[in-house]
Amino acid sequence: MPSPDVLDQLPASIVERAAELDRRDPLASLREEFVLPDGVVAYLDGNSLGRPLTVTRDRLPRFVEQEWGERLIRSWDDRWMDRPTVVGDAIGRVVLGASAGQTVVGDSTSVLLYKLVRAAVDARPDRTEIVADTENFPTDRFILTAVAAETGRTVRWIRPDPATGVQPSEVSAALGDRTALVVLSHVAYKSAFVADLPAITAAAHRAGALVLWDLCHSAGAVDVHLDAADVDLAVGCGYKFLNGGPGAPAFGYVAHRLQRELVQPIPGWMGHAEPFAMGPDYVPASGIRRFLSGTPSILGMLPLEDMLALIERAGMPAVRAKSVLLTGFTVAVADEVLASCGVTVASPRDPERRGAHVTLEHDAMRAVVARLWDRGVIPDFRPTRGLRVGLSPLSTSFTEVATALAHVRQILTDPDTPAG
Ligand SMILES: *Cc1c(COP(=O)(O)O)cnc(C)c1O
Repeated sequence: MPSPDVLDQLPASIVERAAELDRRDPLASLREEFVLPDGVVAYLDGNSLGRPLTVTRDRLPRFVEQEWGERLIRSWDDRWMDRPTVVGDAIGRVVLGASAGQTVVGDSTSVLLYKLVRAAVDARPDRTEIVADTENFPTDRFILTAVAAETGRTVRWIRPDPATGVQPSEVSAALGDRTALVVLSHVAYKSAFVADLPAITAAAHRAGALVLWDLCHSAGAVDVHLDAADVDLAVGCGYKFLNGGPGAPAFGYVAHRLQRELVQPIPGWMGHAEPFAMGPDYVPASGIRRFLSGTPSILGMLPLEDMLALIERAGMPAVRAKSVLLTGFTVAVADEVLASCGVTVASPRDPERRGAHVTLEHDAMRAVVARLWDRGVIPDFRPTRGLRVGLSPLSTSFTEVATALAHVRQILTDPDTPAG
């Protein structure tokens, strides 16, 4: 059984440091704007599913009553038709460093990734290779393999050291005049390694290739400057650090200069120049809207809009600054009290190269995570032996992290915990 005061597991200096970091946190009060039920002792999985905001909880019933229930189909004219680009522009402005007209919301990350990858390789018909890495998220690897097969191309796989992530030198070595497209995650989903986005983008361009960045673990946690880095394409997730809720739509970014050139492979009516003309032929809308296919989830965009408003109030530089302190504190506590139990830190120690989570490894982690969930401490487990401490900057406190790691120590030192 957990001890009544689990913080006894930690030296008093760590508990005091957590309290001091919370006192000094300029964003601490924003945590109160999330739904924080008593049964959750510590939530360390905001990188998989962000917590809802109370404003969202209160707005959803009103949406059902009024916008949907009363205005009914008229709401498409009132305000729904433009939501994919209005919310897209907000994502661009608040978290991507992207000027208006380049970001659209709709589909899942997987589907948007397929659409943009396919459009990109079709725009480089003479080039036969896609450069990617073996440590990327399954959806990314599966889709690249499928598009390569579908278009008669090959994927040139970089095999990065999981601890250090994809290096610009590895990308440069894989690039050539056969490269159509480079697809990488900005923040690695396992280690949280942050790739050098500006350097890799520039190297790809020197080789004449396009670049697509997967921003699932960056958007809302690590600041990104897509326009400044001259990025071509990007996709990212709505339900992680953007707190859009389960199945929230994803976003896609296509630089202005490419929008007319790229032809997306799913020409649906919502991306048509005149969706309600119901004409015989597909004529793509001008601008970023042409990358829509079918009707996007308006319901799923409500929580996203609320979170974007909160991030905009905080400002991305402040969000990133808190995130660096949260991950740094986690690494320090792991070194001080978990290393002696055999736990190793499998995320970068350099804060510049570290995203918003910290992966801790131990042979017993699968069992440890199951026990943590029973106690209301919720990180996630990533095979084969990783506990991911996801630190959503606006909804996580330092004391919450200390409490969670105290539970980890208590479980690891419990003789009843299976060794692995
Ligand atoms: C979470 C995640 C996805 C998820 O894709 P969905 O289709 O939106 O579920 C894709 N890529 C990466 C890198 C992710 O972390």
